[in-house]
Amino acid sequence: MTYTKSILNAARDVGVIQADLPEEIAPDHIRMRLATASICGTDMHYFRHFANAGFFLDYPVTLGHEACGYVENANGHDFPEGALVAINPVIQCGECDACLRGDINMCPTKRFPGSATTKPHIDGFFRDRFDFPARCCRVVKQGVRPEHLTFAEPLACAMHSVNRGGVTKGDKVLITGCGPMGLLATIGAAAKGAEVHVTDLKPEAIEAAKAVGASAGWVIGKDDMSGLANQYDVVIEASGSPHAYNQALDAVRKQGTVAILSLIQPSEVPVNLHVTALKEIKTIGSILFTHEFDDAVTLIESGTVDFDAIIGGRFPVSDTQAACDFMADGKAVGKVLIQPEG
Ligand SMILES: [Zn+2]
Ligand SMILES: [Zn+2]
Repeated sequence: MTYTKSILNAARDVGVIQADLPEEIAPDHIRMRLATASICGTDMHYFRHFANAGFFLDYPVTLGHEACGYVENANGHDFPEGALVAINPVIQCGECDACLRGDINMCPTKRFPGSATTKPHIDGFFRDRFDFPARCCRVVKQGVRPEHLTFAEPLACAMHSVNRGGVTKGDKVLITGCGPMGLLATIGAAAKGAEVHVTDLKPEAIEAAKAVGASAGWVIGKDDMSGLANQYDVVIEASGSPHAYNQALDAVRKQGTVAILSLIQPSEVPVNLHVTALKEIKTIGSILFTHEFDDAVTLIESGTVDFDAIIGGRFPVSDTQAACDFMADGKAVGKVLIQPEG
């Protein structure tokens, strides 16, 4: 049996093939058909550069680590056939000190689909069929929409930054950047009962943040932001811009916390590190997630969040190139979905 599979052949070049399914499923894996996937900023780095954060792909790979699937063959594992499952893409070793502590994001030998850091690379989810370890999959409640469930992984990353920042009920939180991660951090912080404000260059992105829980927003370069100084218990940096990091240092209150959710790229922009000392700011990093994957699935299952407000586009697997081009143009507000062929 063949299935439709996208492959990143080189920078900005996504091919589509009809691939054969392997006859045998690895004993610890289950076989799924794609329900919905979504494009991550990391996928876009690979799309643009065939590399991410200095790690180059050794050969063409199928991108995509955010997805949910329907069980086609449980391969002897305890999954009802046809069930919709959330997929945690972090394949942790399960045995190292980090894994035993529950810090699966720190596992030195963890594997991750569609990533140059996993060697040999594992194909990701922008394809109609795939096998994945059963222990990474979780059956969800009836009625959960795949278009929402695909956000479990990025929402978990965003919720991890909210937890790393120590956000609690009643906190004033500023999120710099309303790209997909900023929007999901808005959802995560609002779910904690925080008062969430946002900044972004695009008015439409601010509107999307307001639709999912932000109570105020400022358009950078247009609105007067002088009143934001020293106002926030926690600032979550989600834009990747060093300018926004300086803005975060300005906006956080004395002895407040700046949590870094984005990968701020190397640049010549000076960072006002002295402010960190003067205000006794705690700066804390955040990568992937730990227990937040389950928290994210539970929040999605609750049906209390309007994830439709942050869907920026839908493309079939065979149009993965067009989906990536659309994202690369910077026109999309919210997440772009990759869906099964008709
Ligand atoms: Zn992601
Ligand atoms: Zn481990």
